[in-house]
Amino acid sequence: MTAKQKRMISILIPAYNEEEALPLLYERLTGVIDTLEDYEFEILVVNDGSSDGTLEVLRRLREQDPRVCYVNLSRNYGKETAMTCGMDYARGDALIIMDADLQHPPEKIPEMVHYWECGYDDVYARRMNRKNESKLKAWCAETFYRMLQRSTKVNIYPNVGDFRLLDRRCVNAIRQLRENQRYTKGMYSWIGYHKKEILFEVGDRVAGTSKWSFRGLWGLALEGLTSFSTAPLRLAAWLGGVVSAFAFLYLIIILIKALAVGDPVAGYPSMMCVILFIGGIQLICLGIIGEYLGRVFNESKRRPLYFVDEYNGIKERNEPGEAYSKEPRNQ
Ligand code: UDP
Ligand code: MG
Repeated sequence: MTAKQKRMISILIPAYNEEEALPLLYERLTGVIDTLEDYEFEILVVNDGSSDGTLEVLRRLREQDPRVCYVNLSRNYGKETAMTCGMDYARGDALIIMDADLQHPPEKIPEMVHYWECGYDDVYARRMNRKNESKLKAWCAETFYRMLQRSTKVNIYPNVGDFRLLDRRCVNAIRQLRENQRYTKGMYSWIGYHKKEILFEVGDRVAGTSKWSFRGLWGLALEGLTSFSTAPLRLAAWLGGVVSAFAFLYLIIILIKALAVGDPVAGYPSMMCVILFIGGIQLICLGIIGEYLGRVFNESKRRPLYFVDEYNGIKERNEPGEAYSKEPRNQ
């Protein structure tokens, strides 16, 4: 087989302040991909506005090994956007997404590639353990996924993250979804195609610290809920209906009471309770509507998702949806 006929696999790594982890990742990753001789590889790192020496590390790695390419974003946009940028620049027939901190073991790559060759388009890795997360975080994640799944028709897979192999047609599909506020996990299942699950054990972060804060996770949770479901809006309407029904009942009771026995000016506490209760519900519902309105506002600006400071690789970015040379495969 000549080099030209080899199919290419891109490894996409979003990196934010990962100067210590990247060299370790490079060593372990190349140890694995060097054994897969039937494929050409591209290691595409998206530097998401790091403030440490990540960019210098990438420059050095690229000089050492031309398989390493990198995109330097103009600022920190967050992992979701960094991944989208990576999808725009990746050249491979397949794309494997993994974290820079080696929590996603590169040793799983041959298995992913095997299933890709079997005809699967999206080989996703499910975590077997959440042991290195606090109990609270694990509980929150579980509850959130259960809620999300109940509120939407799109399949949400618990314990599945971004560690996965995507065929070119999945990549091209996701690239056409250009919303600004992104919830990639929902997109993977929304686009469909043939999926295959494999299992992996989450490793410990090799260096640096996790960039997620509790606030960040809360934001992501809201993002997930509002980008894939309008159930909260329906809930607001439902709540409104129930409260009005009770209010109406109460009104009748008061009327009858006033007619039958007359009403001395009592009832201040009950009136306050009702006013405060209904006021609270109104505010909650307004908040829900506001959340969706905010999304509409943000999307209506139609801004580009990101700006690139520098790209050091082989090919310029392709427009979303543009097909590559790959022939359709027989399933
Ligand atoms: N990351 C990124 N931009 C950010 C935050 C994180 O590109 O704003 C990258 C980070 O470098 C890592 C991956 O996303 O490769 C996962 O981040 P992290 O390990 O901090 O998250 P956790 O594993 O704790 O969920
Ligand atoms: Mg991590």
